[in-house]
Amino acid sequence: MHELSIAQEVLAASDRVLVEHGGARLLRVRVAVGELTAIEPDLLRFAWEALTAGGRDAGCELEVEWHPALQRCPACRTDKPRGERSWLPFCPDCGGALQVEGGQELDLLQVELEPGAGAEPVSRMEAERRG
Ligand SMILES: [Zn+2]
Repeated sequence: MHELSIAQEVLAASDRVLVEHGGARLLRVRVAVGELTAIEPDLLRFAWEALTAGGRDAGCELEVEWHPALQRCPACRTDKPRGERSWLPFCPDCGGALQVEGGQELDLLQVELEPGAGAEPVSRMEAERRG
C-alpha cells in the first residue's frame, strides 16, 4: 500500500520535530496532499491510525489538507472548473490547450506536541515545510 510508506515518512518527519522540541508525544499532525500525488486521504489516515495505534502516539490525529490541481487556460487567463477526478481535454470556452497548476503538494504543515518535562511551554509549533 502506497499510503503506508507515506504515513511512515510523515511519522518519521513528525518524530524529528518532536525530538527537536523535546516533546513527550504527538497530538496532531497536519499535512498538505496534492491531487496529483495519487494519495487517497482516507487510506493515508487509515495507515496513520494503524501505525500509531497502541504506541506512544496513539490517538494522534492526522489532518489532511487536500490540494486539488487546477486547469488554467492561458488564453482566457482563468481556471476552468471541472468535475472531481475528471480532466478537461480543451478549454470549454475557447478550445485552447490547458495548463495544469498545483496538485503536487506533499508537505508537513504543522505538528502539535505534548510538551515533555522541562520542554518549552508551548505545545503548538510550526514544522519546517518539506520539499
Ligand atoms: Zn480558454
